Amino acid sequence: MMIMNNAVLENLKRIRYEIAEAKAKYRKDTDEVELMAVTKTVPYDIVNEVIDEGVTLLGENRVQEYLDKREFYNKSAEIHFIGHLQTNKVKYIISSVKCIHSVSSIRLAEEIDRLAGKNGIVMKVLAEVNIGREESKSGAAPEELEELIYGMSELKNIKLSGLMTIPPVGNSEKYFDEMYRLFRDIGSKKIENVSMDILSMGMSADYVEAVKHGSNIVRIGSALFGARK
Ligand SMILES: *Cc1c(COP(=O)(O)O)cnc(C)c1O
Repeated sequence: MMIMNNAVLENLKRIRYEIAEAKAKYRKDTDEVELMAVTKTVPYDIVNEVIDEGVTLLGENRVQEYLDKREFYNKSAEIHFIGHLQTNKVKYIISSVKCIHSVSSIRLAEEIDRLAGKNGIVMKVLAEVNIGREESKSGAAPEELEELIYGMSELKNIKLSGLMTIPPVGNSEKYFDEMYRLFRDIGSKKIENVSMDILSMGMSADYVEAVKHGSNIVRIGSALFGARK
């Protein structure tokens, strides 16, 4: 029997409070900000405790770990894939995730499109932006983004629905603000088959700043579940 994990539930309460506070301070009343629980390394029974508390969105990073855990997750949660995704692994997740946040190349977008078509679905995807132009991170650099977006707009079995980023450590407000501008500018271009609905940014260390700068999905792991081993 699992003992109720009070620390996690306390964390959840605090995070929700801080999101609500940032929203009240900086955003419109009608804006929605969703809390995504990032589950890497976390046992499924702990994940299910936060689902039972009303968290409806899970973020998965690793294909194999996700495949091992998915049948045990409480079914009321929606699963998004947020980790680095190799094209040869898309086939394992295509039928069970609702959105892929980490699309950083046209090659990956084409493979998602091909397999979505085969499965008779339209997959929601986000373009990942390497907003700090860091060697160590994937995602399109801001100056490469337009080409990626127009390429993705041609693919009929995917629906480009927003942007995702992991900014450089420190100074994230500046990068979140740049992301918000890209998000707004692309949205205003009214590109066919593209809608800028989701701005996925903010993690444990900077979700309050992300909410301040227009995020509507914050992806939170360690602040919720504790430090990863
Ligand atoms: C791990 C991870 C997160 C959550 O990170 P924390 O700092 O633990 O909140 C968010 N997004 C992505 C893409 C991740 O890999």
